[in-house]
Amino acid sequence: MKVFCVIGNPIKHSKSPRIHNNAISSLGLDGIYTRYHLENEGELRDLFFKLKLSGANITLPFKEEASKIADVKSEFVQEIGSANTLVLKNNKLHAYNTDMIGFLKAIEDFKTIKKALILGAGGTARSIALALKRRGVELCIANRSEKRLIHFKEFQTTLYEDLNDLDFDLVVNTTSAGLNDEDLPCNQVLLEKILARANYSFEVIYGKQTPFLKLCKQNKVQYKDGFSMLLWQGIFAFELFFDLKHKQEEIKTAMIEALNLG
Ligand code: NDP
Repeated sequence: MKVFCVIGNPIKHSKSPRIHNNAISSLGLDGIYTRYHLENEGELRDLFFKLKLSGANITLPFKEEASKIADVKSEFVQEIGSANTLVLKNNKLHAYNTDMIGFLKAIEDFKTIKKALILGAGGTARSIALALKRRGVELCIANRSEKRLIHFKEFQTTLYEDLNDLDFDLVVNTTSAGLNDEDLPCNQVLLEKILARANYSFEVIYGKQTPFLKLCKQNKVQYKDGFSMLLWQGIFAFELFFDLKHKQEEIKTAMIEALNLG
């Protein structure tokens, strides 16, 4: 039996065991997927082998470490320095980043995006920025503080208060502002001006009506939340775990069923 795991800190909220186990059982595969709360990032590689894993999803705050400990890195992991999927092949750890392709798949039906504004400058913002760059989108990254903007040297960056150009086709909120508290990522008046001009918006958080999503709704912008990104990063990781092709619809149905259980 193959054993898989999601590793992070915190981890008990993760929906990954639920979606992967349902897909494993629906497709009649021999495997089990569990979760592990890790304290020390230096133990990640040893843990993978100690648990005799065939693959793992790596979540906050260990995605950079997952990239560092891999023996083989996908092109995108090399570019971004962050991985969310590890797969053991011929005793070597292969690292992938399915967040990026998950995001692109999630916005597939957002047509004609020429310019996008990314709110936030963390790891998710970087994956999404590189994904959109690949789609040929012109980008601006805005954050509440300077420090993390240094990781976006190849893009236009700004603090919210210095944002002058407010015309964007797509606005992506990658901040964790709506996660625990009821914050918007930036000043409401500014955000309303931006949303009033935008065609599409995306909130990376899933499973709750964040203040950002409520504002998108009020401003009648077509929006999506992180559900679709979570789903697609899971589908792509599952394909890598079991080396599957042409099973996307079955995996997707099983994962949606698991997510809709509440
Ligand atoms: P990071 O910690 O790397 O970055 C967080 C960013 O949010 C920083 O830019 C930070 O600003 C900003 N921020 C945090 N709190 C606030 C606030 N109250 N107001 C304004 N800005 C704020 O996190 P990640 O990029 O790794 O993750 C971000 C979110 O993405 C998480 O909520 C995570 O759950 C979600 N996510 C969803 C996925 C999905 O599949 N749907 C996949 C991956 C992540 P500063 O630099 O000033 O601190």
